Amino acid sequence: MTNTQQPRTREDVEQDQFLTVLSREEALKRFEAALFPRPVPAEQRRLADALGCALAQDIVAPIDVPPFDRSNVDGFAVRSADLASSGEATPVRLMLNDEVIACGVAPARPVLSGTATSIATGGPVPRGADAIIMVEHTQPAELRAIEIRRAASPGQFVSYAGSDIARGEHLLRAGTVIGSREIGMLAACGIAQVSVARRPRVAVISTGDELMQPGLALRPAAIYDTNGAIVTAAVRENGGEAVFLGAIADDEASLEAAMREALESSDMLVLSGGTSKGAGDLSHRIIARLGKPGIIAHGIALKPGKPLCLAACDGKPVVILPGFPTSAMFTFHDMIVPVLRRMAGLPPRSDAKVTARVPVRIASEIGRTEFVMVSLVEGDGGLIAYPSGKGSGAITSFAQADGFLKIDALADQMPAGTEAEVTLFTPHVRVPDLVIVGSHCTGLDLVTAQLSRAGLVVRSIAVGSLGGLAAARRGECDLAPIHLFDETTESYNAPFLMAGLELVPGWRRMQGIVFRAGDARFEGLSAQDAVRAALADPACIMVNRNQGAGTRILIDRLLGEARPDGYWNQPRSHNAVAAAVAQHRADWGMTIAPVADAAGLGFIAFAEEHYDLALVTARKQRPAVRAFLAALASEEGRAALTRAGFRPA
Ligand code: AMP
Ligand code: MG
Repeated sequence: MTNTQQPRTREDVEQDQFLTVLSREEALKRFEAALFPRPVPAEQRRLADALGCALAQDIVAPIDVPPFDRSNVDGFAVRSADLASSGEATPVRLMLNDEVIACGVAPARPVLSGTATSIATGGPVPRGADAIIMVEHTQPAELRAIEIRRAASPGQFVSYAGSDIARGEHLLRAGTVIGSREIGMLAACGIAQVSVARRPRVAVISTGDELMQPGLALRPAAIYDTNGAIVTAAVRENGGEAVFLGAIADDEASLEAAMREALESSDMLVLSGGTSKGAGDLSHRIIARLGKPGIIAHGIALKPGKPLCLAACDGKPVVILPGFPTSAMFTFHDMIVPVLRRMAGLPPRSDAKVTARVPVRIASEIGRTEFVMVSLVEGDGGLIAYPSGKGSGAITSFAQADGFLKIDALADQMPAGTEAEVTLFTPHVRVPDLVIVGSHCTGLDLVTAQLSRAGLVVRSIAVGSLGGLAAARRGECDLAPIHLFDETTESYNAPFLMAGLELVPGWRRMQGIVFRAGDARFEGLSAQDAVRAALADPACIMVNRNQGAGTRILIDRLLGEARPDGYWNQPRSHNAVAAAVAQHRADWGMTIAPVADAAGLGFIAFAEEHYDLALVTARKQRPAVRAFLAALASEEGRAALTRAGFRPA
């Protein structure tokens, strides 16, 4: 019996994946070797439609620009030798020729010695003249003459023909991306059409039974197709013409049909999802039937992005990106963009880089090149890079990050204090005006909204209360929001402050029991009685919170020694608790009132928590800090907090 006839176990699958993992560099080398060199097809485009395209050929200037010797000022065309003796005390008189050279008027008469011709800015310099005198430096004299009291150097205020662009000069090189400046140069030479690299047509397909397109109402257990939108945009950003073909269900026949059709009509095919080598993952098996040589790399030592699959089918690249959006984005930018840009005739991407200190240790897996997204803030001694990843499934980590750093495949960590190179997502760093590091609360956005409207950039980094205090002590933030309860003094926050920090009262948030409105087990009870009722019903399931959360301390107080069903379900956010209850995965949990309200759940108030801000005293006078404190105290800020269910202190 051969191996393929036996059912494959999980170990087989993992073994298979493990054995074929290539390094990032090796995978890219093989992928490029299978696709290049290849001609870049060109097409003619009207200048107006060529923006963003790469020139397919060098452009040689067909004419001189300016096409004639041109006056730069309004004045008089003269022979400079006539003015050699001219000075304050020795004015020279020149007779005016019977002609005025306006823009677009070709001169008819020469400037003979002792004469001058009136000329406008942009007018062609007449025969005989070698300089222009500004009209401000002349005086009219009787009998159609002017008087001049200064000398003129030859060539003064004249732009010579070809001085800007010389006929026959290489104006632009093949591969140059056409922007408004290039369009200006081409237009100045009278070029109306250019030969540009044809944008490669890239078909984009998402795969997965669970995917729905944005705009539709989400059915249970479905998610929105994020990769379709990401990849389509990223293809366009890098010179491709994206054709999005929608999300295809995990069905081999329909997927194969879609892939064949896509490949037929495009230069490249990018799929996402279904790249593991598990039974349900089909795309890579289909690729083998689509053309030669087929799969080049499947399993690459990248994090995120290990399951990336690279293939070439009869000269066309076919790629399966990992399903998680962040992994899909990283692998697309790192491994696919170089290939796409080459096909599009574009130069390699040039990302801006900065050096920044990493304030915390980042653990890393040995054997995989790891990309870590970071937020940049200005510390006391230079830029600081905070890791901002929420895991490879998180899309917001991309939107909120300024860039990423790379941890070498051979390293098992990046120690705290490392000066790391950060590749920026944008051309420049915009260091935030206000940095808030600590516990996150939706109320914060309501206060900082005023700052954003005033043009201040606010960065909030959620690391929890204790992380925020540590950052404040290290001088990495302006404010650290905290909600820490001290058992001994039975008070919030103040006992946790260290030297150099002061407490700014924030707002109170009501913590309480959430349940589905109408659940007779809980309606009308106090929090203590509700928990008692829950414990009395063996069919009742709770949702807990993670160790270390302020909310968890309150739950533990109510539960005592009890460990009901659901106790080990410990999500890390207020919203996850509400979602679990709303979706019937649990019957009760603890969250804050605004979150319970937003989810349409019943709520039993239990304890009011103090959410305050530890302010770094040394930074108190910074304009953005003052603006924050003003917004917090403002009528508008307090009203917004109150509307959202918070109680301003
Ligand atoms: P897969 O590789 O298909 O098992 O997908 C891995 C994870 O990524 C699953 O949680 C998928 O639901 C998710 N995923 C796959 N494709 C997409 C997509 N187009 N948009 C958002 N999430 C996706
Ligand atoms: Mg899938």
